Amino acid sequence: MSNFLGGETPSHILPYKDIPEVDKSSIYLSDLSPRDKPWDNHRSNSDRVANHYRDDVIFAKYADKIDFCAQVLDFRLVPQEGEYKLKLDNARFCRVRHCPVCQWRRSRMWKAKAYKVLPSIVEAYPKYRWLFLTLTVRNCFISELRDTLQWMNQSWQRLIKRKKFPAVGWLRSTEVTRSKDNLAHPHFHCLLLVKPSYFSTGYMKQSDWSELWKSCLRVDYSPVIDIRSLKASSSPNDLVPEIIKYCVKESDLTVNREWFLELTQQMHKMRTIATGGVLKKYLKQLEQEPEDLIGKDENETKSEVDEGHLYFNWKYRDKRYKLKD
Ligand SMILES: [Zn+2]
Repeated sequence: MSNFLGGETPSHILPYKDIPEVDKSSIYLSDLSPRDKPWDNHRSNSDRVANHYRDDVIFAKYADKIDFCAQVLDFRLVPQEGEYKLKLDNARFCRVRHCPVCQWRRSRMWKAKAYKVLPSIVEAYPKYRWLFLTLTVRNCFISELRDTLQWMNQSWQRLIKRKKFPAVGWLRSTEVTRSKDNLAHPHFHCLLLVKPSYFSTGYMKQSDWSELWKSCLRVDYSPVIDIRSLKASSSPNDLVPEIIKYCVKESDLTVNREWFLELTQQMHKMRTIATGGVLKKYLKQLEQEPEDLIGKDENETKSEVDEGHLYFNWKYRDKRYKLKD
């Protein structure tokens, strides 16, 4: 049993019936299942975010909700290759937008959905090509974020109606980062599907994209943009981590309370993922909050004999999930 507690952390765990031999009071989730280590980090950041909200006149209710988020994790023991793996079976989530745990789960579900669906688009449009476009504007004060995002959305609407805009379908996500001087840097990450002829007729280089975005924004400066085309042999799945990022990085959520509270105010009910053109029917589910944040496996048939469950409690002081006594 020594490999449970000291030395090398095992990647698989042993049957539950073996556990009483060791001191259960010192068994942590990340020891039993290293791949579940991110839980500790995210839940710990949720505590920090809840503390930002606490005692705030408007947002104190979010602190109460986050306090109860994922306090208990119920994992099922799944037999695999003669050993057991932990699979999350149940947990309660607060669904507060900027809760780090919920943001993490949400992004995982969206990514899983995209990974599943993109190959069927490739199948439907085998000769078409993919572009990855990043559109930015000048940094703004966090107090101006909402107006800035609305202006960017309107500019995007102008962009997709322009004759030069080459995409027949698109997926767009919004990211907001924080600069060192506490300004907000909102930008769009876009996946575009273009006809194969794009590279012979209508091809736009970086400066053309910048000109086009500039004219849609109706500004007098040249905005920073980035455009990359995916090799014909590559899968758009490779771009999923670039496109479906967190709307706000976890580190930016926790570092500065004033900035974060203003961000919450400014982002209230703003949608961050949008789809259009021929991609809409495949990907529009990404525009909604995922119903399932657990990650239930649709194809999974539950083993006839339930092999048992392990429950872990969040320990605020330890900043770790601990096996329930
Ligand atoms: Zn939550």
